[in-house]
Amino acid sequence: MRKQIAAANWKMNLTLAKGEELVDQLLDATTGLTENQEAVFAVPFPYLVNIKNKLAGKSNVFVAAQNCYNKVSGAYTGEVSAEILKSIGTDYVVIGHSERREYFNESNQMLAEKINICLEYKLKPIFCCGEALEIREADTQNSYVENQIKESLFHLSAEQITGFVIAYEPIWAIGTGKTATSAQAQEIQAYIRVVLASKYGKEIADSISILYGGSVKAANAKEIFSQPDVDGGLVGGASLMATEFAAIIKSLK
Ligand code: PEP
Repeated sequence: MRKQIAAANWKMNLTLAKGEELVDQLLDATTGLTENQEAVFAVPFPYLVNIKNKLAGKSNVFVAAQNCYNKVSGAYTGEVSAEILKSIGTDYVVIGHSERREYFNESNQMLAEKINICLEYKLKPIFCCGEALEIREADTQNSYVENQIKESLFHLSAEQITGFVIAYEPIWAIGTGKTATSAQAQEIQAYIRVVLASKYGKEIADSISILYGGSVKAANAKEIFSQPDVDGGLVGGASLMATEFAAIIKSLK
């Protein structure tokens, strides 16, 4: 069975002390993770080492960076490379979050470059895709997301994409309190798997974890995660609250 993942995206929130306290409060919930379940904490860069140390010795819990640069190294003041992230024990990197695409003009091509560098340094990308409201209203979300996937991922080999993690996050549902229905999430995530199968075959497509993101909370996680093509969630706001995120972890299949 492919991995079921509850990934917390803290974004630019929490002090180090508050983040450490939050992780402490979640240790009980993470202790219950089964072999094919994971909890991932995408924390601000400066906290990666601290949170990694807090999770030391615990099974199935990982840290993620929220971004990395699309160059290997060099004179790029203020940027953080995959090699730097690897050197401090980072496990995953969130690539192409809609906030990065929107505020930092990250194109599908740039994201392909970031993914290549992550893979070169043995970091696991969590590739985000998803449509804006006007695209959903025009009912063109499937072709829009298909294009994002083709332009950023289809250069990868079958070996590189096996066991990959994708997060489908409709922009109209992120931080808005407006969640996609479980049927909407299932429909497009099943379509994403068909797109992946068209290039890599069904077996590889079935190995790829596809998370849903967009106003996931304790009250809706179980219903959304119960869908056959939803393999957990990428969670923003609700991941900042211990009781909420603990319940979300416990909602994994
Ligand atoms: C996100 O940041 O990826 C996200 C889905 O945020 P929220 O859960 O707050 O909608």
